[in-house]
Amino acid sequence: MKFKSIKGTKDILPDESYRWQFVEQTIRSVMHAFNYREIRTPVFEETALFARGIGELTDIVGKEMYTFLDRSGSSLTLKPEMTAAVMRSFIQNNLGEQQPLVKVYYIAPMFRQERPQAGRLRQFHQFGAEAIGASHPYIDAEIIVLSAEIYKALGIKNFEIKINSVGCEQCRPSYKDKLTKHLQSVYDKLSEESRKRFGQNPLRILDSKDENDRALTNDAPLMKDHLCEECSSHFSQLRSILTSLNIEYQIDGRIVRGLDYYTKTAYEIVSNDLGSQDALTGGGRYDLLVKELDGKQTPSVGFAAGIERALMAMEKQNLFSGEQFSPKIFIAAADSAGKDWAITQAMTFRQSGISCEIDFLERSLKSQMREADRQKAEFVIIIGENELRNGHVSVKNMKTGNQTIVMIKDLVNHFQYQEGKDEPGKKD
Ligand code: AMP
Repeated sequence: MKFKSIKGTKDILPDESYRWQFVEQTIRSVMHAFNYREIRTPVFEETALFARGIGELTDIVGKEMYTFLDRSGSSLTLKPEMTAAVMRSFIQNNLGEQQPLVKVYYIAPMFRQERPQAGRLRQFHQFGAEAIGASHPYIDAEIIVLSAEIYKALGIKNFEIKINSVGCEQCRPSYKDKLTKHLQSVYDKLSEESRKRFGQNPLRILDSKDENDRALTNDAPLMKDHLCEECSSHFSQLRSILTSLNIEYQIDGRIVRGLDYYTKTAYEIVSNDLGSQDALTGGGRYDLLVKELDGKQTPSVGFAAGIERALMAMEKQNLFSGEQFSPKIFIAAADSAGKDWAITQAMTFRQSGISCEIDFLERSLKSQMREADRQKAEFVIIIGENELRNGHVSVKNMKTGNQTIVMIKDLVNHFQYQEGKDEPGKKD
């Protein structure tokens, strides 16, 4: 029997993991610059948390969750998104009592049983942030800028920020009536998917990707034009804060987000380099969520972004030049005395923080040199009985081809001294 990975999942192989490490380090350093601290929650939660926190009528809860009964019959679900889990943890651990504004970030795998296609996986990875406890649009702006700064720090160009307001409990119901009336007149011509949404979540018809649906809803009323005074003032303040921060954005009245708990700000960051799955980030305000999960009403804003999508944009823009982790030193041994020395010396290098590889496959000196080259080692030390007797070795710089003679007892110092120097081997 040949085992294969599950459809919609992917291995991150050693040749590409350095890209993930770069992306994750960049995310962490920008998050820390904005004073967000990491939160990690379990991979699975009670199914009811997501049903309630995301909404029974959403695609995620309706048809995409990996839900199973454990041996004691409890219904559990692999997390399809992080916000509900963060809020559960916020309430359970009384985080709001320890500080008035909780700013957290995460990097974690998510699971959704979607139709696999380019840019859509069943296990994918998200990074995101949540700011829990503040209602001023300053913090909405901070969240938007934070996500944009991460793309900038990754070197991604040509992304667009689109913002909208989805109103609140006060203004949304009457707007929904207006929208429903408008949609009734075109109902028969809508796509099957949109007709399904009509009864459940008519706002989602506005973000249909179907060209015909979009044409039919061209003159549909938009939430942003029917906001109550409070939402309208929040939206205009957000726009002026973004402008004062020199952030370019567009207003897009069709952004509605799939989730029920969003209020006021909704935004997306999209990249033209991603084809049909062009969304890098989705986020916004969800003042109703903590209460929905039986906590105290707490204003919150956040975003979630796909790591695979960020990597796709980076690859499209040639941001990886193929530089990977490679050992600093490869010790090539000419004979068995050299091999004995190599294994001990390799440990000394490693304990001094200098990465080092040796030959484990009893290869000839020539094929060890080839291996060092294949692994892109920076230096090769050639060692054998002669060198051991003389107390010095030849160190070859694999980039320049230069060879330097170094005393064996000075080797660790030699490489520590070289760290960060352009032309290694020039110790005077
Ligand atoms: P959402 O939680 O649906 O708002 O998604 C937030 C971001 O996660 C999207 O903008 C994508 O970048 C990413 N994402 C969502 N679903 C998937 C998926 N199935 N595969 C890969 N990335 C995804």
